Amino acid sequence: MKVEVIPVTPFQQNCSVIICTETNKAAIVDPGGEVDRICQRLDELGVEPEKILITHAHIDHAGGTKDLSEKFDLPIEGPEKEDSFWIEKLSDQSRMFQFPEAKQFEPTRWLQHEDKVSVGNLEFDVKHCPGHTPGHVVFINHKHKLIWVGDVLFRGSIGRTDFPRGDHATLINSIRENLLTLPDDYQFISGHGPVSNIGFERQTNPYIR
Ligand SMILES: [Zn+2]
Repeated sequence: MKVEVIPVTPFQQNCSVIICTETNKAAIVDPGGEVDRICQRLDELGVEPEKILITHAHIDHAGGTKDLSEKFDLPIEGPEKEDSFWIEKLSDQSRMFQFPEAKQFEPTRWLQHEDKVSVGNLEFDVKHCPGHTPGHVVFINHKHKLIWVGDVLFRGSIGRTDFPRGDHATLINSIRENLLTLPDDYQFISGHGPVSNIGFERQTNPYIR
């Protein structure tokens, strides 16, 4: 497995390209925008895009999904169905944040808690982690001890819960049940900011200690 992070949009959202080095197939996680830049990087990497994975439907994570999926005819997996109202509001979100117009999309596959997704020969567990948004999911690769947590958890912080249908207690519960149950040496890539690991957050994160 190889991972390339491409910060996109004015919010510097960490769009990831996950590459299966055995098959050269790639998944794009949370293509929030700047689709031309993402495509250019895919081209430079010489990988074969296989699918798009979405943690949640906030614009900085999902705004470029429709354009990217059309460009390569890619299936879209995620988020969980409770985020459908955020997908319907993508156009509103782009006006609110003065982003380029973002198009609605229809996931090829809505994800559910305990589903599995694959990229080439790589496999990821899906955990439903509501709180930041009601349909937020995270992707866990146990072999490489790496997690894509979207806006659930950050180095030293947690996701905002002041958006429609956000809920602080639900978010804390999601983190406790799905992330803090993992070993200390599992690293995670957040939607914003640096990489961290579960042990460091367990020790130091004031929101979850
Ligand atoms: Zn978000």
